[in-house]
Amino acid sequence: MSDCIFCAIASGDIPGRIVHETEHTLAFLDVNPLAPGHTLVIPKDHYARLDEVPADLSEELFGAVSDLVPRVEDAVDADATNVGINNGPAAGQEVDHVHVHIVPRFEGDGGAP
Ligand code: 5GP
Ligand code: ZN
Repeated sequence: MSDCIFCAIASGDIPGRIVHETEHTLAFLDVNPLAPGHTLVIPKDHYARLDEVPADLSEELFGAVSDLVPRVEDAVDADATNVGINNGPAAGQEVDHVHVHIVPRFEGDGGAP
């Protein structure tokens, strides 16, 4: 899908600050971070909604998320993370390509994003 910004990052057509890659997933820093180290994890192939992602790819995606969470926390010395998906426009999804947010959190940082 050529008009998808995350497909363009996955294909290398536009630059992304890539922090992790597996065969079918990619993780990169959010361009407008909610906190330092805010990372997005995507399947390289385009799926709009979580329920469209095949089971084996979903396993790889969430495996990558699990691997990344402690690394992101370490990288920015965070106390915790919010990990989540805005699944559909009514839930706040703005980019129509499944992505998992990893948002570092710090003691006393003022509540959920
Ligand atoms: P959503 O609201 O769809 O769950 O989140 C989309 C996220 O993608 C936002 O946090 C936004 O800052 C991020 N984003 C939008 N466009 C780009 C881009 O071109 N590059 C990167 N790295 N992040 C983007
Ligand atoms: Zn896409």
